[in-house]
Amino acid sequence: MDLLGRKVLVVGLAKTGLATVRFLKEKGSIVGASEVKPEEEMKEVAQELKAMSISMEWGGHTVRNFLHQDLIVLSPGVDPTLDPIQKAMDQGIQVISEMELAYHFINIPIIAITGTNGKTTTTLLIGEMLKEEGKKVGVGGNVGEPLILFAEGGDRYELLVVEVSSFQLEGSERFRPRCSVLLNITEDHLDRYSRYEDYIEAKMRIFKNQGIEDLAILNRDDPMVMKYAERVRAKKLFFSLKERVEEGGFFNGKEILLRLGGVEEAYPLSQSPLKGIHNVENMMAAVIAARLFGSSKGAIERVLNRFRGLEHRLEFVREIEGVPYYNDSKGTNVGSVVKSLQSFQEPVILIAGGKDKNTDLRPLREWVQTRVKRMILIGEAKERMARELGPLTETVMAGTMEEAVLLAHRMAKTGEVVLLSPACSSFDMFRDYKERGKVFKEAVRRL
Ligand code: ADP
Repeated sequence: MDLLGRKVLVVGLAKTGLATVRFLKEKGSIVGASEVKPEEEMKEVAQELKAMSISMEWGGHTVRNFLHQDLIVLSPGVDPTLDPIQKAMDQGIQVISEMELAYHFINIPIIAITGTNGKTTTTLLIGEMLKEEGKKVGVGGNVGEPLILFAEGGDRYELLVVEVSSFQLEGSERFRPRCSVLLNITEDHLDRYSRYEDYIEAKMRIFKNQGIEDLAILNRDDPMVMKYAERVRAKKLFFSLKERVEEGGFFNGKEILLRLGGVEEAYPLSQSPLKGIHNVENMMAAVIAARLFGSSKGAIERVLNRFRGLEHRLEFVREIEGVPYYNDSKGTNVGSVVKSLQSFQEPVILIAGGKDKNTDLRPLREWVQTRVKRMILIGEAKERMARELGPLTETVMAGTMEEAVLLAHRMAKTGEVVLLSPACSSFDMFRDYKERGKVFKEAVRRL
């Protein structure tokens, strides 16, 4: 990809956007930058860009600016359906994701992970398992380092493990991972995608350029994944909680049984600190990938036995009078809340709600009815959730997170569980899911 002397616009100026600007500048492009946030909120970035004499646009994107470019590069969080981007595309201007740009300058194998839920957890698990074996792996994408930092990395790394979102996949053309992992597909982001099919199509792009010598690790239990699996040309390996698979991994209730090339290995999970049945899926996908790319059984077992999971994903906070409190603030869609509820045998006091994504709440009905003893709703989505799910259990509303936690504490009896798993994004009340999780944890600690 020739970048010398070309006019390139970088959209979105968080960590990744800034790294992309630096990269393009080094390549001799005439670089511009566009960001929705006002300059005052991003003073440090603005200063650095000024020092590089980059032409900048703050507080929004204007069509005129976009139409004067040879190439437009989108940062991971940028929605490709934004009006100026669409207009530029209509004019024939090439629009790609930062991931696609980086890909052109990366010449080591990539393991790419996508899905509605579990991407970060699985990406980090695979990275850890390969590092434990002593491999030189870079971990990047939505988690870890921006992918562009691995471009032209020389011999610093031998392999990359990359978390990819549907937005990044949409802006991909030639991106071809050596191994792709598709964990699951459930409804999400319908506030940004007008059709569920468009969201699925974006996810399927991970397989688009793969050939028969590449690998694809797929969730056998997910009907959507299996519906689209026919299209995958790469060699398929499956993981399942329900049935034995020929090539891949499955779970017998106690251990992961890995089958590769007719050889079977058992990985017991009795020591694993990771809670939740969905994490068994993530671990199965990770074991398959790590073993295929050279981790030994011993290295994989050591990681399984010590990996505690991440903050805000079914994270244990504390126990009060026999009631454990869990923070699952990253449970921002229906699919992840279903999994979180399935992870408890105890009756659950569920705190849910937030910014409404207009997704179908029906998949939650069965689980609210059978596992949720009481539901406390907060945020913008609370009325709709109360209408559609409220009658299935005892439901109350709260004005703030603190109030919700106090209510939960008053209601909970020994042997029950309090769980924050919102099924919504956080932007109506918080900066992001991390802040929401922190506020929850602080309120729980004050009880
Ligand atoms: P992502 O990076 O895809 O958002 P995370 O690993 O950060 O995924 O987990 C996000 C949320 O989804 C958490 O609430 C977590 O409990 C839930 N989750 C994790 N893995 C899975 C899975 N395989 N299936 C369904 N839900 C999951």
